[in-house]
Amino acid sequence: MGLLEISNLCARVKEGKDILKGVDLVIEEGEVHAIMGKNGSGKSTLCQVLAGREVYEVTQGQVIFNGKDLLKMSPEERAREGMFLGFQYPVEIPGVSTSYFLKAAVNETRKHHGLKELSAVEFLKLIHEKMAMFGMDKSFMNRAINEGFSGGEKKRNEVFQMAVINPLLGLLDETDSGLDIDALKTVAAGVNKIHRSDSKKAILLVTHYQRLLNYIVPDKVHVMIDGRIIKSGGKELALVLEERGYDWVENEVAAK
Ligand code: ADP
Ligand code: MG
Repeated sequence: MGLLEISNLCARVKEGKDILKGVDLVIEEGEVHAIMGKNGSGKSTLCQVLAGREVYEVTQGQVIFNGKDLLKMSPEERAREGMFLGFQYPVEIPGVSTSYFLKAAVNETRKHHGLKELSAVEFLKLIHEKMAMFGMDKSFMNRAINEGFSGGEKKRNEVFQMAVINPLLGLLDETDSGLDIDALKTVAAGVNKIHRSDSKKAILLVTHYQRLLNYIVPDKVHVMIDGRIIKSGGKELALVLEERGYDWVENEVAAK
Protein backbone atom coordinates (compact mmCIF):
# COMPACT_ATOMS: atom_id res chain seq x y z
CA MET A 1 0.00 0.00 0.00
CA GLY A 2 1.24 3.46 -0.85
CA LEU A 3 1.87 6.09 1.78
CA LEU A 4 -0.10 8.56 -0.33
CA GLU A 5 -2.61 7.41 -2.92
CA ILE A 6 -4.33 10.11 -4.91
CA SER A 7 -6.97 9.08 -7.40
CA ASN A 8 -8.88 11.28 -9.80
CA LEU A 9 -8.51 14.30 -7.55
CA CYS A 10 -10.47 17.28 -8.85
CA ALA A 11 -10.56 20.59 -7.04
CA ARG A 12 -11.48 24.20 -7.63
CA VAL A 13 -11.29 27.52 -5.90
CA LYS A 14 -14.54 27.71 -3.92
CA GLU A 15 -17.26 28.98 -6.27
CA GLY A 16 -14.55 29.46 -8.86
CA LYS A 17 -12.76 27.75 -11.66
CA ASP A 18 -11.60 24.15 -11.77
CA ILE A 19 -7.88 23.78 -11.19
CA LEU A 20 -7.15 20.12 -10.51
CA LYS A 21 -8.78 18.02 -13.18
CA GLY A 22 -8.15 14.42 -12.20
CA VAL A 23 -4.78 13.97 -10.50
CA ASP A 24 -3.53 10.41 -10.02
CA LEU A 25 -0.39 9.86 -7.98
CA VAL A 26 0.95 7.14 -5.70
CA ILE A 27 3.91 7.74 -3.39
CA GLU A 28 5.32 4.72 -1.62
CA GLU A 29 6.99 4.88 1.77
CA GLY A 30 10.51 6.20 1.57
CA GLU A 31 10.22 7.69 -1.92
CA VAL A 32 11.14 11.14 -3.14
CA HIS A 33 8.91 12.44 -5.92
CA ALA A 34 9.20 15.65 -7.90
CA ILE A 35 6.36 17.41 -9.68
CA MET A 36 7.43 19.76 -12.41
CA GLY A 37 5.41 21.91 -14.75
CA LYS A 38 4.85 25.38 -16.10
CA ASN A 39 3.54 28.18 -13.94
CA GLY A 40 -0.18 27.93 -13.40
CA SER A 41 -0.43 24.19 -14.02
CA GLY A 42 -1.80 23.50 -10.54
CA LYS A 43 1.26 22.31 -8.60
CA SER A 44 0.80 24.62 -5.63
CA THR A 45 -2.93 23.97 -5.62
CA LEU A 46 -2.29 20.25 -5.29
CA CYS A 47 -0.07 20.88 -2.24
CA GLN A 48 -2.63 23.24 -0.72
CA VAL A 49 -5.48 20.81 -1.27
CA LEU A 50 -3.46 18.01 0.36
CA ALA A 51 -2.77 20.25 3.34
CA GLY A 52 -6.47 21.09 3.55
CA ARG A 53 -6.44 24.82 2.81
CA GLU A 54 -9.97 26.17 3.05
CA VAL A 55 -9.98 28.23 -0.14
CA TYR A 56 -10.14 25.09 -2.24
CA GLU A 57 -12.98 22.67 -2.63
CA VAL A 58 -12.54 19.06 -3.68
CA THR A 59 -15.20 18.14 -6.21
CA GLN A 60 -14.18 14.55 -6.99
CA GLY A 61 -11.67 11.88 -6.17
CA GLN A 62 -10.00 10.26 -3.22
CA VAL A 63 -6.81 10.63 -1.20
CA ILE A 64 -5.59 7.93 1.16
CA PHE A 65 -2.74 8.94 3.44
CA ASN A 66 -1.10 6.23 5.53
CA GLY A 67 -4.23 4.11 5.21
CA LYS A 68 -6.67 6.87 6.20
CA ASP A 69 -9.09 9.05 4.26
CA LEU A 70 -7.21 12.35 4.10
CA LEU A 71 -10.05 14.42 2.70
CA LYS A 72 -12.15 13.77 5.81
CA MET A 73 -9.51 15.29 8.10
CA SER A 74 -9.14 18.90 9.21
CA PRO A 75 -5.85 20.64 8.34
CA GLU A 76 -4.71 20.13 11.96
CA GLU A 77 -5.46 16.41 11.86
CA ARG A 78 -3.54 16.08 8.61
CA ALA A 79 -0.53 17.68 10.27
CA ARG A 80 -0.83 15.40 13.30
CA GLU A 81 -1.05 12.39 10.99
CA GLY A 82 2.28 13.41 9.52
CA MET A 83 1.69 15.68 6.55
CA PHE A 84 3.82 18.81 6.37
CA LEU A 85 3.54 21.63 3.89
CA GLY A 86 6.29 24.17 3.48
CA PHE A 87 5.16 27.45 2.03
CA GLN A 88 6.09 28.82 -1.35
CA TYR A 89 5.91 32.31 0.13
CA PRO A 90 6.25 31.73 3.86
CA VAL A 91 4.17 34.14 5.87
CA GLU A 92 5.51 36.26 8.65
CA ILE A 93 3.85 35.69 12.01
CA PRO A 94 4.83 38.63 14.20
CA GLY A 95 4.95 37.83 17.90
CA VAL A 96 5.15 34.06 17.49
CA SER A 97 8.71 32.87 17.91
CA THR A 98 9.89 29.92 15.90
CA SER A 99 10.67 27.95 19.04
CA TYR A 100 7.19 28.47 20.50
CA PHE A 101 5.54 27.41 17.27
CA LEU A 102 7.75 24.38 16.79
CA LYS A 103 7.42 23.12 20.36
CA ALA A 104 3.65 23.30 20.11
CA ALA A 105 3.69 21.52 16.74
CA VAL A 106 6.02 18.75 17.92
CA ASN A 107 4.11 18.13 21.14
CA GLU A 108 0.69 18.15 19.47
CA THR A 109 1.87 15.40 17.17
CA ARG A 110 3.48 13.41 19.98
CA LYS A 111 0.30 13.59 22.07
CA HIS A 112 -1.72 12.46 19.07
CA HIS A 113 0.47 9.38 18.75
CA GLY A 114 0.34 8.60 22.46
CA LEU A 115 3.91 9.75 23.14
CA LYS A 116 5.08 11.77 26.10
CA GLU A 117 5.47 15.50 25.40
CA LEU A 118 9.04 16.76 25.19
CA SER A 119 10.25 18.79 28.14
CA ALA A 120 11.87 22.18 27.57
CA VAL A 121 15.31 20.58 27.92
CA GLU A 122 14.56 17.71 25.52
CA PHE A 123 13.10 20.14 23.03
CA LEU A 124 16.18 22.37 23.15
CA LYS A 125 18.40 19.39 22.53
CA LEU A 126 16.35 18.45 19.47
CA ILE A 127 16.44 22.02 18.18
CA HIS A 128 20.17 22.38 18.58
CA GLU A 129 20.81 19.16 16.78
CA LYS A 130 18.66 20.23 13.82
CA MET A 131 20.07 23.75 13.77
CA ALA A 132 23.55 22.33 13.48
CA MET A 133 22.34 20.16 10.62
CA PHE A 134 21.19 23.24 8.68
CA GLY A 135 24.02 25.51 9.73
CA MET A 136 21.62 27.92 11.38
CA ASP A 137 22.38 30.77 13.71
CA LYS A 138 21.04 30.57 17.28
CA SER A 139 19.33 33.98 17.00
CA PHE A 140 16.92 32.35 14.57
CA MET A 141 14.90 30.71 17.27
CA ASN A 142 14.12 33.91 19.07
CA ARG A 143 12.94 35.77 16.03
CA ALA A 144 9.26 35.63 15.15
CA ILE A 145 8.51 33.06 12.45
CA ASN A 146 9.80 34.37 9.15
CA GLU A 147 9.77 37.94 10.37
CA GLY A 148 12.35 39.98 8.52
CA PHE A 149 13.85 36.86 6.99
CA SER A 150 15.32 37.03 3.54
CA GLY A 151 13.88 34.69 0.91
CA GLY A 152 16.77 32.28 1.37
CA GLU A 153 16.44 32.34 5.18
CA LYS A 154 12.73 31.58 4.93
CA LYS A 155 13.40 28.59 2.74
CA ARG A 156 16.10 27.33 5.02
CA ASN A 157 13.80 27.82 7.98
CA GLU A 158 11.07 25.92 6.22
CA VAL A 159 13.23 22.84 5.77
CA PHE A 160 14.55 23.22 9.30
CA GLN A 161 10.95 23.24 10.56
CA MET A 162 10.34 20.12 8.57
CA ALA A 163 13.36 18.45 10.18
CA VAL A 164 12.11 19.30 13.66
CA ILE A 165 8.51 18.29 13.02
CA ASN A 166 9.71 15.11 11.34
CA PRO A 167 6.65 14.42 9.16
CA LEU A 168 5.82 11.20 7.34
CA LEU A 169 5.32 13.15 4.13
CA GLY A 170 6.93 16.52 3.50
CA LEU A 171 5.52 18.66 0.72
CA LEU A 172 8.06 21.23 -0.39
CA ASP A 173 6.67 23.77 -2.83
CA GLU A 174 9.34 25.66 -4.77
CA THR A 175 11.75 25.35 -1.88
CA ASP A 176 14.53 26.17 -4.30
CA SER A 177 13.23 29.53 -5.47
CA GLY A 178 15.27 32.43 -4.14
CA LEU A 179 18.14 30.29 -2.89
CA ASP A 180 21.70 30.95 -3.89
CA ILE A 181 23.77 27.91 -4.67
CA ASP A 182 25.24 27.54 -1.15
CA ALA A 183 21.85 27.82 0.53
CA LEU A 184 20.45 25.39 -2.02
CA LYS A 185 23.14 22.86 -1.18
CA THR A 186 22.56 23.24 2.57
CA VAL A 187 18.83 22.80 2.15
CA ALA A 188 19.29 19.82 -0.13
CA ALA A 189 21.79 18.19 2.22
CA GLY A 190 19.32 18.69 5.06
CA VAL A 191 16.46 17.16 3.11
CA ASN A 192 18.65 14.21 2.17
CA LYS A 193 19.68 13.69 5.80
CA ILE A 194 16.07 13.78 7.01
CA HIS A 195 15.11 11.42 4.28
CA ARG A 196 17.87 8.93 4.91
CA SER A 197 17.29 8.93 8.66
CA ASP A 198 14.07 6.97 8.32
CA SER A 199 13.09 4.55 5.60
CA LYS A 200 9.40 5.43 5.85
CA LYS A 201 9.63 9.16 5.27
CA ALA A 202 8.62 10.40 1.86
CA ILE A 203 9.03 13.77 0.18
CA LEU A 204 7.13 15.48 -2.58
CA LEU A 205 9.10 18.31 -4.15
CA VAL A 206 7.45 20.82 -6.39
CA THR A 207 9.88 22.62 -8.59
CA HIS A 208 10.10 24.44 -11.82
CA TYR A 209 13.79 23.91 -12.22
CA GLN A 210 15.80 20.79 -12.47
CA ARG A 211 18.61 22.50 -10.50
CA LEU A 212 17.35 21.28 -7.11
CA LEU A 213 17.13 17.75 -8.46
CA ASN A 214 20.89 17.67 -8.93
CA TYR A 215 21.12 17.70 -5.14
CA ILE A 216 17.98 15.87 -4.11
CA VAL A 217 17.68 12.94 -6.44
CA PRO A 218 14.05 11.91 -6.94
CA ASP A 219 12.81 8.36 -7.43
CA LYS A 220 10.08 9.62 -9.72
CA VAL A 221 9.45 12.79 -11.71
CA HIS A 222 5.99 13.86 -12.82
CA VAL A 223 4.90 16.49 -15.28
CA MET A 224 1.77 18.44 -14.43
CA ILE A 225 -0.07 20.31 -17.13
CA ASP A 226 -3.47 21.92 -16.78
CA GLY A 227 -4.39 20.20 -13.52
CA ARG A 228 -3.31 16.69 -14.40
CA ILE A 229 -0.18 14.60 -14.21
CA ILE A 230 0.31 13.70 -17.84
CA LYS A 231 3.70 12.03 -17.76
CA SER A 232 5.85 10.28 -15.17
CA GLY A 233 9.34 8.91 -15.32
CA GLY A 234 12.57 8.45 -13.43
CA LYS A 235 15.12 11.13 -12.51
CA GLU A 236 16.29 11.36 -16.11
CA LEU A 237 12.94 12.89 -17.11
CA ALA A 238 13.92 16.06 -15.23
CA LEU A 239 16.99 16.42 -17.43
CA VAL A 240 14.94 16.02 -20.59
CA LEU A 241 12.51 18.67 -19.35
CA GLU A 242 15.37 21.02 -18.58
CA GLU A 243 16.66 20.61 -22.09
CA ARG A 244 13.45 20.47 -24.08
CA GLY A 245 10.88 22.34 -21.99
CA TYR A 246 7.32 21.15 -21.55
CA ASP A 247 5.68 21.56 -24.95
CA TRP A 248 6.86 18.23 -26.34
CA VAL A 249 5.13 16.43 -23.45
CA GLU A 250 1.84 18.10 -24.36
CA ASN A 251 2.34 17.19 -28.02
CA GLU A 252 3.20 13.62 -27.16
CA VAL A 253 0.06 13.24 -25.06
CA ALA A 254 -2.12 14.96 -27.70
CA ALA A 255 -0.81 12.58 -30.34
CA LYS A 256 -1.96 9.51 -28.39
P1 ADP B 1 1.51 26.42 -10.10
O1 ADP B 1 1.89 26.23 -8.68
O2 ADP B 1 1.69 25.20 -10.94
O3 ADP B 1 2.18 27.60 -10.71
P2 ADP B 1 -1.10 27.12 -9.06
O4 ADP B 1 -1.61 25.91 -8.40
O5 ADP B 1 -0.55 28.17 -8.19
O6 ADP B 1 -0.05 26.71 -10.19
O7 ADP B 1 -2.26 27.77 -9.92
C1 ADP B 1 -3.01 27.05 -10.88
C2 ADP B 1 -4.10 27.96 -11.45
O8 ADP B 1 -5.10 28.15 -10.46
C3 ADP B 1 -3.63 29.33 -11.84
O9 ADP B 1 -4.35 29.73 -12.98
C4 ADP B 1 -3.98 30.17 -10.64
O10 ADP B 1 -4.21 31.51 -11.01
C5 ADP B 1 -5.27 29.51 -10.16
N1 ADP B 1 -5.43 29.65 -8.70
C6 ADP B 1 -4.73 29.00 -7.75
N2 ADP B 1 -5.13 29.37 -6.51
C7 ADP B 1 -6.10 30.27 -6.69
C8 ADP B 1 -6.91 31.03 -5.79
N3 ADP B 1 -6.79 30.90 -4.45
N4 ADP B 1 -7.81 31.88 -6.34
C9 ADP B 1 -7.93 32.00 -7.67
N5 ADP B 1 -7.21 31.32 -8.57
C10 ADP B 1 -6.29 30.46 -8.09
MG1 MG C 1 3.28 27.19 -7.50
